[in-house]
Amino acid sequence: MPGAAAAAYDMAAMAERESDLLIAGGGPAGMVAGLLFARAGVATLVLEKHKDFLRDFRGDTVHPSTLRLFHELGLLDAFLERPHDKVRTLSAFVGGRRIVPVDLSRFDPRWNFVAMMPQWEFLDFVRDAAAAYPAFRLEMETEATGLVEEAGRIAGVRTRSGERRARLTIAADGRDSRLRAAAGLPLKTIGAPIDVFWFRLPKAPTAENRTTGFFTGGRIMVVIDRGDYWQCAYVFAKGDAAKVRARGLEAFRAEVARVAPVTADGVDALRDWDEVRLLSVALDRLERWHRPGFLAIGDAAHAMSPVGGVGINVAIQDAVAAANVLAGPMARGEDPDPLLPKVQARRATAVRLTQAFQSAAQKRIIRPLLERGDGELPLPLPLELHDRFPLLRTIPAAFIGFGWRPEHVRSPEAQG
Ligand SMILES: Cc1cc2nc3c(=O)[nH]c(=O)nc-3n(C[C@H](O)[C@H](O)[C@H](O)COP(=O)(O)OP(=O)(O)OC[C@H]3O[C@@H](n4cnc5c(N)ncnc54)[C@H](O)[C@@H]3O)c2cc1C
Repeated sequence: MPGAAAAAYDMAAMAERESDLLIAGGGPAGMVAGLLFARAGVATLVLEKHKDFLRDFRGDTVHPSTLRLFHELGLLDAFLERPHDKVRTLSAFVGGRRIVPVDLSRFDPRWNFVAMMPQWEFLDFVRDAAAAYPAFRLEMETEATGLVEEAGRIAGVRTRSGERRARLTIAADGRDSRLRAAAGLPLKTIGAPIDVFWFRLPKAPTAENRTTGFFTGGRIMVVIDRGDYWQCAYVFAKGDAAKVRARGLEAFRAEVARVAPVTADGVDALRDWDEVRLLSVALDRLERWHRPGFLAIGDAAHAMSPVGGVGINVAIQDAVAAANVLAGPMARGEDPDPLLPKVQARRATAVRLTQAFQSAAQKRIIRPLLERGDGELPLPLPLELHDRFPLLRTIPAAFIGFGWRPEHVRSPEAQG
């Protein structure tokens, strides 16, 4: 075929490519949804704009609820063969005193821990599990650039190489979701009074995972143990990034070592502000998650604050709920549109309550703490109580480990 004609043929072929379900975004929500819908026999195409899963740090936490979902799918043993650390208690240093406010060890021993696993391992595992189903396709390096709309209904997405059409489009494209903006769904901004600097510092590997938080007068840091380096979160009042930078790198290094003494040996490795990334913390949610032919899930439907480290969990729970409601009917060829409100109804309360908790923690604990000067930091009463009465540690453990209204896999597995 001559060149121009071949190109025209290719374009036409691409424009015609149709799936039952198109998912934009191969993060935790999109990949788990892809696995579950393909497992049910729904012809599913996941588009991911990056060429691999090796991206910026976005959380290493695989929660008990997700471990239990893998158990329900018969995947837990295989999952736990991937490199990970098991963390059963979460600790923090408040004013120099170590406390343990969260204890997961009382839950079922098969999932009474957070599996600390780099997100690329997690996503890679889900991709491999999904690839076992012939209905699953994943296109990397393919960005959804807009929506295809026909007679008021979303009929797919546009990409640089043509249109991808589907009976249902799921936007799982994260907190800056381009598709939710294109869909014009109403957004409620709750706001967050904090921003975060993210950076790595080298450390010596230890047998135990030493992930922890440091709360001192005026400063908060979280250090995530990734074996031979700390992934550090330095929390400050929203909008103060320029102020922190203006004090100079030397002052920043000294402060990091003071607030989180475990990093002191590695702090000199920080040579340039280019190694320090600003995360603008957002807290928002769509008031309506769907339109005919379109559904938003995960951070695309509700950007979560890092407070509590629950965003991945909530995103995965959305994916499971969406598959529970839609996958069976779609596999039978039924119209998904009338079922879309059920997905939102199932998940909206969990999201609202989690965000209300995050917002309260931001306002009542984090902001006042950041506004304090240096000096003594008394232990807030709830933390004192959790420290003294170990049974109370199960309450935040249930919130972090399972969240509100945890989902179970109810979507079918296609035969043959
Ligand atoms: C720095 C940081 C640290 C965090 N730490 C934690 C933690 O410790 N624990 C926790 O539970 N949560 C944490 N979170 C929150 C957590 O990362 C999110 O809540 C979670 O990843 C949401 O999953 P998601 O699949 O909805 O979106 P994302 O993980 O954002 O995935 C969206 C995916 O869509 C892709 N994409 C975007 N646009 C397009 C497009 N137009 N076309 C195709 N693909 C597209 C992106 O490349 C990405 O792969 C953290 C977040 C950040 C930013």
